[in-house]
Amino acid sequence: MVTELGEKPFRANQLSRHYFARLTTDPDAMTDIPADARERLTGELLPPLLTAVRHLGCDDGATRKTLWRAHDGTLLESVLMRYPDRVTLCVSSQAGCGMACPFCATGQGGLQRNLSTAEIVDQVRAAAAAMRDGELGEPGRVSNIVFMGMGEPLANYRRVVDAVRRICDPQPYGLGISQRSVTVSTVGLVPAIRKLTEEGLSVRLAVSLHTPDDELRDTLVPVNTRWKVSEVLDAARGYADKTGRRVSIEYALIRDINDHPWRADLLGKLLRKHLGPLAHVNVIPLNPTPGSKWDASPKPVEREFVRRVNEQGVACTVRDTRGQEIAAACGQLAAEG
Ligand code: SAH
Repeated sequence: MVTELGEKPFRANQLSRHYFARLTTDPDAMTDIPADARERLTGELLPPLLTAVRHLGCDDGATRKTLWRAHDGTLLESVLMRYPDRVTLCVSSQAGCGMACPFCATGQGGLQRNLSTAEIVDQVRAAAAAMRDGELGEPGRVSNIVFMGMGEPLANYRRVVDAVRRICDPQPYGLGISQRSVTVSTVGLVPAIRKLTEEGLSVRLAVSLHTPDDELRDTLVPVNTRWKVSEVLDAARGYADKTGRRVSIEYALIRDINDHPWRADLLGKLLRKHLGPLAHVNVIPLNPTPGSKWDASPKPVEREFVRRVNEQGVACTVRDTRGQEIAAACGQLAAEG
Protein backbone atom coordinates (compact mmCIF):
# COMPACT_ATOMS: atom_id res chain seq x y z
CA MET A 1 0.00 0.00 0.00
CA VAL A 2 2.64 2.46 1.07
CA THR A 3 4.82 1.66 -1.94
CA GLU A 4 1.83 1.96 -4.26
CA LEU A 5 1.62 5.54 -3.04
CA GLY A 6 5.23 6.06 -4.11
CA GLU A 7 6.58 5.99 -0.57
CA LYS A 8 9.35 4.01 1.09
CA PRO A 9 8.25 0.75 2.76
CA PHE A 10 9.44 1.92 6.20
CA ARG A 11 6.75 4.59 6.17
CA ALA A 12 4.28 1.77 6.88
CA ASN A 13 6.07 1.11 10.16
CA GLN A 14 6.04 4.77 11.02
CA LEU A 15 2.31 5.00 10.38
CA SER A 16 1.73 1.87 12.42
CA ARG A 17 3.68 3.35 15.29
CA HIS A 18 1.68 6.58 15.17
CA TYR A 19 -1.62 4.74 15.18
CA PHE A 20 -1.03 1.83 17.56
CA ALA A 21 1.64 3.23 19.89
CA ARG A 22 1.11 6.99 19.85
CA LEU A 23 -2.63 6.51 19.29
CA THR A 24 -2.87 9.35 16.82
CA THR A 25 -4.19 9.80 13.28
CA ASP A 26 -3.32 13.50 13.18
CA PRO A 27 -0.85 14.20 10.33
CA ASP A 28 0.52 17.27 12.12
CA ALA A 29 1.79 15.07 14.93
CA MET A 30 3.79 12.86 12.53
CA THR A 31 6.93 14.95 12.42
CA ASP A 32 9.15 12.01 11.41
CA ILE A 33 7.38 11.92 8.01
CA PRO A 34 8.06 14.70 5.46
CA ALA A 35 5.22 17.22 5.50
CA ASP A 36 4.16 16.67 1.88
CA ALA A 37 3.89 12.91 2.38
CA ARG A 38 1.91 13.11 5.64
CA GLU A 39 -1.39 14.31 4.22
CA ARG A 40 -1.23 11.84 1.38
CA LEU A 41 -0.35 8.87 3.57
CA THR A 42 -2.86 9.60 6.31
CA GLY A 43 -5.51 10.56 3.76
CA GLU A 44 -5.12 7.22 1.99
CA LEU A 45 -4.25 4.90 4.86
CA LEU A 46 -5.56 6.48 8.07
CA PRO A 47 -8.74 8.28 7.02
CA PRO A 48 -10.85 9.62 9.90
CA LEU A 49 -13.19 6.73 10.73
CA LEU A 50 -15.18 7.82 13.72
CA THR A 51 -16.09 11.35 14.77
CA ALA A 52 -17.21 11.92 18.35
CA VAL A 53 -20.69 13.46 18.28
CA ARG A 54 -20.89 13.76 22.08
CA HIS A 55 -19.62 12.38 25.34
CA LEU A 56 -21.93 11.77 28.31
CA GLY A 57 -20.47 11.13 31.74
CA CYS A 58 -21.75 9.88 35.08
CA ASP A 59 -20.56 8.11 38.27
CA ASP A 60 -18.46 11.21 39.11
CA GLY A 61 -16.70 10.95 35.78
CA ALA A 62 -15.80 7.25 36.12
CA THR A 63 -18.19 6.24 33.32
CA ARG A 64 -18.33 7.90 29.91
CA LYS A 65 -20.46 7.04 26.91
CA THR A 66 -19.40 8.29 23.49
CA LEU A 67 -21.69 8.59 20.50
CA TRP A 68 -19.71 8.17 17.27
CA ARG A 69 -20.57 8.99 13.70
CA ALA A 70 -18.99 6.89 10.94
CA HIS A 71 -18.07 8.24 7.47
CA ASP A 72 -21.49 7.31 6.08
CA GLY A 73 -23.45 8.88 8.91
CA THR A 74 -23.97 5.61 10.81
CA LEU A 75 -24.20 6.14 14.57
CA LEU A 76 -22.74 3.84 17.23
CA GLU A 77 -21.73 4.01 20.88
CA SER A 78 -18.99 2.83 23.19
CA VAL A 79 -18.74 3.08 26.97
CA LEU A 80 -15.56 3.59 28.99
CA MET A 81 -15.64 2.57 32.65
CA ARG A 82 -12.99 3.25 35.23
CA TYR A 83 -12.79 0.93 38.26
CA PRO A 84 -10.28 0.96 41.11
CA ASP A 85 -8.36 -1.98 39.63
CA ARG A 86 -9.11 -1.82 35.90
CA VAL A 87 -10.44 0.25 33.02
CA THR A 88 -12.97 -1.44 30.76
CA LEU A 89 -14.14 -0.35 27.34
CA CYS A 90 -17.44 -1.72 26.07
CA VAL A 91 -17.26 -1.70 22.26
CA SER A 92 -19.83 -2.04 19.50
CA SER A 93 -19.35 -4.61 16.75
CA GLN A 94 -22.37 -3.61 14.68
CA ALA A 95 -24.48 -0.48 14.29
CA GLY A 96 -27.76 -1.74 15.71
CA CYS A 97 -28.40 -5.45 16.11
CA GLY A 98 -30.44 -8.06 14.27
CA MET A 99 -31.01 -10.44 17.18
CA ALA A 100 -34.27 -8.76 18.33
CA CYS A 101 -34.10 -9.62 22.04
CA PRO A 102 -37.21 -7.88 23.40
CA PHE A 103 -35.56 -6.51 26.58
CA CYS A 104 -32.63 -4.83 24.76
CA ALA A 105 -32.93 -1.32 23.30
CA THR A 106 -30.37 -2.07 20.58
CA GLY A 107 -32.38 -5.09 19.48
CA GLN A 108 -35.53 -2.99 19.12
CA GLY A 109 -33.95 -0.76 16.49
CA GLY A 110 -32.81 -3.59 14.19
CA LEU A 111 -29.50 -3.91 12.38
CA GLN A 112 -28.10 -1.01 10.37
CA ARG A 113 -24.80 -2.58 9.31
CA ASN A 114 -21.69 -4.43 10.39
CA LEU A 115 -18.81 -2.30 11.59
CA SER A 116 -15.49 -2.73 9.82
CA THR A 117 -12.46 -4.10 11.66
CA ALA A 118 -10.99 -0.59 11.61
CA GLU A 119 -14.16 0.94 13.07
CA ILE A 120 -14.06 -1.54 15.94
CA VAL A 121 -10.34 -1.02 16.58
CA ASP A 122 -10.68 2.76 16.38
CA GLN A 123 -13.12 2.76 19.33
CA VAL A 124 -10.32 1.17 21.37
CA ARG A 125 -7.61 3.49 20.07
CA ALA A 126 -9.72 6.54 20.92
CA ALA A 127 -10.42 5.21 24.44
CA ALA A 128 -6.74 4.40 25.00
CA ALA A 129 -5.84 7.96 23.97
CA ALA A 130 -8.55 9.41 26.25
CA MET A 131 -7.23 7.40 29.20
CA ARG A 132 -3.65 8.39 28.50
CA ASP A 133 -4.66 12.04 28.27
CA GLY A 134 -6.47 11.94 31.61
CA GLU A 135 -9.96 12.51 30.21
CA LEU A 136 -11.41 10.22 32.90
CA GLY A 137 -9.41 11.53 35.85
CA GLU A 138 -5.86 10.36 36.53
CA PRO A 139 -4.12 9.21 33.35
CA GLY A 140 -4.31 5.44 32.94
CA ARG A 141 -4.61 2.59 30.46
CA VAL A 142 -7.50 0.64 29.03
CA SER A 143 -7.00 -2.84 30.50
CA ASN A 144 -10.17 -4.70 29.47
CA ILE A 145 -12.34 -4.86 26.37
CA VAL A 146 -15.86 -6.27 26.32
CA PHE A 147 -17.77 -6.82 23.08
CA MET A 148 -21.00 -5.95 24.85
CA GLY A 149 -21.89 -2.72 23.11
CA MET A 150 -24.21 -2.60 20.12
CA GLY A 151 -24.47 -5.69 17.98
CA GLU A 152 -23.92 -9.42 17.99
CA PRO A 153 -20.15 -9.87 17.59
CA LEU A 154 -20.36 -13.41 16.23
CA ALA A 155 -22.75 -12.23 13.49
CA ASN A 156 -19.86 -10.05 12.26
CA TYR A 157 -17.41 -12.87 12.81
CA ARG A 158 -14.42 -12.20 10.54
CA ARG A 159 -14.20 -8.50 11.32
CA VAL A 160 -14.49 -9.09 15.05
CA VAL A 161 -11.78 -11.76 15.10
CA ASP A 162 -9.50 -9.54 13.01
CA ALA A 163 -10.21 -6.65 15.38
CA VAL A 164 -9.32 -8.82 18.39
CA ARG A 165 -5.94 -9.52 16.80
CA ARG A 166 -5.31 -5.80 16.13
CA ILE A 167 -6.37 -4.92 19.67
CA CYS A 168 -4.14 -7.59 21.21
CA ASP A 169 -1.04 -7.75 19.01
CA PRO A 170 1.93 -6.05 20.65
CA GLN A 171 2.64 -2.43 19.77
CA PRO A 172 3.29 -1.12 17.17
CA TYR A 173 1.41 -3.83 15.28
CA GLY A 174 -1.57 -3.69 17.60
CA LEU A 175 -2.76 -1.98 20.76
CA GLY A 176 -1.08 -4.45 23.10
CA ILE A 177 -4.08 -5.39 25.26
CA SER A 178 -3.97 -8.94 26.64
CA GLN A 179 -6.31 -11.44 24.94
CA ARG A 180 -7.22 -12.74 28.37
CA SER A 181 -8.67 -9.31 29.15
CA VAL A 182 -10.98 -9.34 26.13
CA THR A 183 -14.52 -10.74 26.38
CA VAL A 184 -16.63 -11.68 23.37
CA SER A 185 -20.31 -11.89 24.29
CA THR A 186 -22.82 -13.79 22.16
CA VAL A 187 -26.50 -14.72 22.07
CA GLY A 188 -25.30 -18.24 21.21
CA LEU A 189 -24.59 -18.61 17.50
CA VAL A 190 -23.40 -22.20 17.77
CA PRO A 191 -21.45 -22.61 14.50
CA ALA A 192 -19.63 -19.34 15.21
CA ILE A 193 -18.75 -20.42 18.76
CA ARG A 194 -17.29 -23.63 17.31
CA LYS A 195 -15.31 -21.64 14.76
CA LEU A 196 -14.03 -19.31 17.46
CA THR A 197 -12.87 -22.35 19.40
CA GLU A 198 -10.51 -23.15 16.52
CA GLU A 199 -9.03 -19.63 16.20
CA GLY A 200 -6.36 -20.24 18.81
CA LEU A 201 -7.35 -17.14 20.78
CA SER A 202 -7.55 -16.95 24.56
CA VAL A 203 -10.33 -14.38 24.86
CA ARG A 204 -13.11 -14.93 27.36
CA LEU A 205 -16.42 -16.14 25.96
CA ALA A 206 -19.67 -14.84 27.44
CA VAL A 207 -22.98 -16.45 26.56
CA SER A 208 -26.20 -14.50 27.05
CA LEU A 209 -28.42 -17.27 28.37
CA HIS A 210 -31.08 -15.42 30.41
CA THR A 211 -33.05 -18.57 31.18
CA PRO A 212 -32.31 -22.30 31.31
CA ASP A 213 -35.50 -23.45 29.54
CA ASP A 214 -36.07 -23.38 25.78
CA GLU A 215 -39.70 -22.35 26.02
CA LEU A 216 -38.96 -18.97 27.61
CA ARG A 217 -35.62 -18.53 25.83
CA ASP A 218 -37.37 -18.79 22.46
CA THR A 219 -39.03 -15.48 23.34
CA LEU A 220 -36.21 -13.74 25.28
CA VAL A 221 -33.46 -14.61 22.81
CA PRO A 222 -35.27 -15.33 19.52
CA VAL A 223 -32.25 -17.06 17.94
CA ASN A 224 -32.92 -19.85 20.44
CA THR A 225 -35.50 -21.19 18.01
CA ARG A 226 -32.49 -22.09 15.84
CA TRP A 227 -29.96 -23.25 18.47
CA LYS A 228 -31.32 -24.63 21.72
CA VAL A 229 -29.99 -24.11 25.23
CA SER A 230 -28.27 -27.51 25.36
CA GLU A 231 -26.56 -26.98 21.99
CA VAL A 232 -25.34 -23.54 23.08
CA LEU A 233 -23.97 -24.93 26.34
CA ASP A 234 -22.26 -27.81 24.52
CA ALA A 235 -20.54 -25.34 22.21
CA ALA A 236 -19.55 -23.24 25.22
CA ARG A 237 -18.13 -26.36 26.86
CA GLY A 238 -16.06 -27.02 23.75
CA TYR A 239 -14.66 -23.50 23.99
CA ALA A 240 -13.87 -23.87 27.69
CA ASP A 241 -12.15 -27.22 27.15
CA LYS A 242 -10.01 -25.91 24.33
CA THR A 243 -8.99 -22.63 25.95
CA GLY A 244 -9.06 -23.63 29.62
CA ARG A 245 -11.06 -20.48 30.25
CA ARG A 246 -14.21 -20.22 32.29
CA VAL A 247 -17.25 -19.18 30.31
CA SER A 248 -19.38 -16.30 31.57
CA ILE A 249 -23.09 -16.99 31.53
CA GLU A 250 -24.99 -13.71 31.32
CA TYR A 251 -28.40 -13.60 32.99
CA ALA A 252 -30.43 -10.38 32.88
CA LEU A 253 -32.78 -10.84 35.82
CA ILE A 254 -36.31 -9.71 34.96
CA ARG A 255 -39.03 -9.43 37.59
CA ASP A 256 -41.57 -12.26 37.37
CA ILE A 257 -40.22 -13.36 33.99
CA ASN A 258 -37.04 -15.38 34.60
CA ASP A 259 -36.33 -14.88 38.31
CA HIS A 260 -38.22 -17.86 39.77
CA PRO A 261 -36.55 -20.13 42.32
CA TRP A 262 -37.16 -23.18 40.11
CA ARG A 263 -35.35 -21.49 37.23
CA ALA A 264 -32.37 -20.79 39.49
CA ASP A 265 -32.29 -24.48 40.47
CA LEU A 266 -32.59 -25.60 36.86
CA LEU A 267 -29.91 -23.16 35.74
CA GLY A 268 -27.51 -24.41 38.41
CA LYS A 269 -28.14 -28.06 37.56
CA LEU A 270 -27.82 -27.51 33.83
CA LEU A 271 -24.56 -25.58 34.14
CA ARG A 272 -23.10 -28.11 36.54
CA LYS A 273 -23.87 -30.83 34.03
CA HIS A 274 -22.60 -29.02 30.91
CA LEU A 275 -19.78 -26.87 32.27
CA GLY A 276 -19.06 -27.85 35.87
CA PRO A 277 -16.46 -25.52 37.36
CA LEU A 278 -15.98 -23.85 33.97
CA ALA A 279 -19.10 -21.69 34.34
CA HIS A 280 -19.51 -18.35 36.04
CA VAL A 281 -22.96 -16.79 36.08
CA ASN A 282 -23.18 -12.99 35.88
CA VAL A 283 -26.56 -11.80 37.01
CA ILE A 284 -27.37 -8.39 35.49
CA PRO A 285 -30.28 -6.58 37.13
CA LEU A 286 -32.46 -5.63 34.15
CA ASN A 287 -31.85 -2.09 32.96
CA PRO A 288 -34.97 -0.26 31.86
CA THR A 289 -35.41 0.41 28.13
CA PRO A 290 -37.89 2.77 26.44
CA GLY A 291 -41.36 1.32 26.01
CA SER A 292 -40.63 -1.89 27.90
CA LYS A 293 -42.94 -2.98 30.71
CA TRP A 294 -40.25 -5.11 32.30
CA ASP A 295 -38.07 -4.18 35.22
CA ALA A 296 -35.43 -5.61 37.53
CA SER A 297 -36.23 -8.18 40.21
CA PRO A 298 -36.50 -7.02 43.84
CA LYS A 299 -33.23 -7.41 45.75
CA PRO A 300 -34.47 -10.29 47.98
CA VAL A 301 -35.53 -12.24 44.89
CA GLU A 302 -32.15 -11.55 43.30
CA ARG A 303 -30.31 -12.72 46.43
CA GLU A 304 -32.34 -15.92 46.58
CA PHE A 305 -31.66 -16.55 42.88
CA VAL A 306 -27.90 -16.23 43.39
CA ARG A 307 -28.02 -18.40 46.51
CA ARG A 308 -29.78 -21.21 44.69
CA VAL A 309 -27.37 -21.20 41.74
CA ASN A 310 -24.45 -21.28 44.20
CA GLU A 311 -26.12 -24.14 46.03
CA GLN A 312 -25.72 -26.25 42.88
CA GLY A 313 -21.99 -25.65 43.08
CA VAL A 314 -21.96 -23.05 40.31
CA ALA A 315 -20.25 -19.65 40.74
CA CYS A 316 -22.73 -16.80 40.48
CA THR A 317 -22.34 -13.09 41.18
CA VAL A 318 -24.30 -9.92 40.49
CA ARG A 319 -22.71 -7.54 38.04
CA ASP A 320 -22.13 -3.99 39.19
CA THR A 321 -24.03 -2.08 36.54
CA ARG A 322 -22.90 1.30 35.38
CA GLY A 323 -24.28 4.17 33.41
CA GLN A 324 -28.03 3.72 33.80
CA GLU A 325 -28.77 7.43 34.06
CA ILE A 326 -26.99 8.16 30.77
CA ALA A 327 -28.55 5.14 29.00
CA ALA A 328 -25.11 3.55 28.82
CA ALA A 329 -25.86 0.36 30.75
CA CYS A 330 -26.23 -3.16 29.28
CA GLY A 331 -29.02 -3.20 26.75
CA GLN A 332 -29.56 0.57 26.66
CA LEU A 333 -27.38 1.58 23.73
CA ALA A 334 -29.57 2.98 20.98
CA ALA A 335 -27.26 5.61 19.44
CA GLU A 336 -29.90 8.25 19.19
CA GLY A 337 -28.43 11.30 17.54
N1 SAH B 1 -25.22 -9.40 21.39
C1 SAH B 1 -24.29 -9.78 22.43
C2 SAH B 1 -23.53 -8.64 23.06
C3 SAH B 1 -24.27 -7.38 23.48
S1 SAH B 1 -25.26 -7.24 24.92
C4 SAH B 1 -25.01 -10.57 23.49
O1 SAH B 1 -26.23 -10.58 23.51
O2 SAH B 1 -24.34 -11.23 24.27
C5 SAH B 1 -24.37 -7.44 26.36
C6 SAH B 1 -25.24 -8.06 27.46
O3 SAH B 1 -26.28 -7.18 27.96
C7 SAH B 1 -25.96 -9.28 26.97
O4 SAH B 1 -25.83 -10.31 27.90
C8 SAH B 1 -27.38 -8.80 26.89
O5 SAH B 1 -28.31 -9.83 26.91
C9 SAH B 1 -27.48 -7.89 28.08
N2 SAH B 1 -28.63 -7.02 28.06
C10 SAH B 1 -29.34 -6.60 27.00
N3 SAH B 1 -30.36 -5.80 27.37
C11 SAH B 1 -30.28 -5.70 28.71
C12 SAH B 1 -31.06 -5.00 29.67
N4 SAH B 1 -32.10 -4.24 29.32
N5 SAH B 1 -30.69 -5.10 30.98
C13 SAH B 1 -29.64 -5.86 31.33
N6 SAH B 1 -28.88 -6.54 30.47
C14 SAH B 1 -29.20 -6.47 29.17
